[in-house]
Amino acid sequence: MDCNQNNGPKLIVAIDGYSSSGKSTMARSFARRVGYKYVDTGAMYRAVTLYALRHDLGAGGKVDTDRLVDALPQIHVSFAPAGADGVSHCLLNGEDVERQIRELPVSEHVSPVAAIPQVRHFLVAEQQAMGREKGIVMDGRDIGTTVFPQAELKVFVNASPEVRAMRRYKEMIAKGEHPDYAEVVRNIRERDHIDSTRKESPLRQAPDAIRLDNDHMTLEQQEEWLCQRFGEALARAGEKKY
Ligand code: C5P
Repeated sequence: MDCNQNNGPKLIVAIDGYSSSGKSTMARSFARRVGYKYVDTGAMYRAVTLYALRHDLGAGGKVDTDRLVDALPQIHVSFAPAGADGVSHCLLNGEDVERQIRELPVSEHVSPVAAIPQVRHFLVAEQQAMGREKGIVMDGRDIGTTVFPQAELKVFVNASPEVRAMRRYKEMIAKGEHPDYAEVVRNIRERDHIDSTRKESPLRQAPDAIRLDNDHMTLEQQEEWLCQRFGEALARAGEKKY
């Protein structure tokens, strides 16, 4: 199916789901295909967490909420235009931190940081500004429920924790890291738990989101599926383009 959209309405595509469910890979590739902007909101929470770790805003392995909230005005998270690797790197106060935000210390601390209401309000406002002109694919945990409840297309992605952990494990090996599989599973389960039980905009499937269980799907199959849903959303928005 041809998802290319030369003119007609620009949509907001909200993709939410569990950690390492493959949503970012699918969302990034799909955004490129339809010529939309792509925003990985997990990277933004990770960048704030990296700032906290670098500035020692915690004690006993925990980030101090009050000190981090006070520091928020000094934190600026943005994205560089996509480079040779096709990935738009995350910038923390102008510095490319794409590699550091994916490392275990950040993964270990990000979910408690993302549960702090002031951190969420700060980043949600930035995300809403990024989508003001539409034509955007944004992925995260609360895009369809909180950031863009009006999004024309909402997808909720899931896969079993074991499949997600194995994907993450293979990604880390491919980057030359030496992960412990049991540790990767533990981190994924812990983040699932914190993300879905926090008070402020917990990870939930929006009532109007379409669910994608991708345990047994290739990336190509997922993209084709998304392309079809996109075509349907375009048609609903009043302009059929295929
Ligand atoms: O998507 P990724 O796994 O990189 O996100 C890292 C963490 O950031 C998640 O485990 C979650 O705690 C938090 N997050 C969030 N809301 C978002 C995106 C990510 O709370 N919209």
